[in-house]
Amino acid sequence: MNAADLAHAIRKHQPCVVLTGAGVSTESGIPDFRSASGIWAEFDPAEYASLPAFRADPEKVWRFYKPRIAMLTEAEPNAAHLALATLERAGLVHAVVTQNIDLLHERAGTRNLVEVHGSIRTATCPACGASYPRDEVLLQLEAADAPRCARCAAVVKPDVVFFGELLQVEAIERAFELARAAALLLVVGSALEVYPVAALPEETLAAGGRVAIVNKGATPYDDRALKLDASAGEVLEAVVRELVPP
Ligand SMILES: [Zn+2]
Repeated sequence: MNAADLAHAIRKHQPCVVLTGAGVSTESGIPDFRSASGIWAEFDPAEYASLPAFRADPEKVWRFYKPRIAMLTEAEPNAAHLALATLERAGLVHAVVTQNIDLLHERAGTRNLVEVHGSIRTATCPACGASYPRDEVLLQLEAADAPRCARCAAVVKPDVVFFGELLQVEAIERAFELARAAALLLVVGSALEVYPVAALPEETLAAGGRVAIVNKGATPYDDRALKLDASAGEVLEAVVRELVPP
């Protein structure tokens, strides 16, 4: 399959729902944490990104996250994020389901967005439930190792799903509904290894829809999908050139 074939499939099979993983953000300079050379190969996630670790020593978890949140904040949406937003505006993408927490889809202009692993948009106080926007958290991090709740002084937790933590039920239910309703599920930049998101293509196929995959490297669905072994930006830009007149 090439980009023109993918464009044809998107036009023909509507609605099209997009599922994105870390690979869509690597071109923005955000490393894939789960890759062989990624952060979780060096740091044990049980120690830095799990709920028990946060409960035991939230300041240690924040010292680990502080430079990473700064990196996510400085990153800019890339050609892939922008192309998906353009396709949504043109009525050719119904929704984007993402595993990424980096807000780059939203900043690129995607409106119908489901973040199944949460995001860095907000942080919540685990003691009293108060919610804090990212700007406030970043401001506090300039002066302290960990952001604290203005009401009760507990260390707040970013609203990202930690390892071993349950996914947000509402988001995951919406993701499954979208996958079942999709005539085409377009997977971009995900090796489809992390469950339950990895189960979404199965939902689409079982409901009679098709699956297309743009990913560098193999996925468990390659033999049942239109597959493009390529990075996302170039391919999706070419798709936009095919489908959306300038
Ligand atoms: Zn509080």
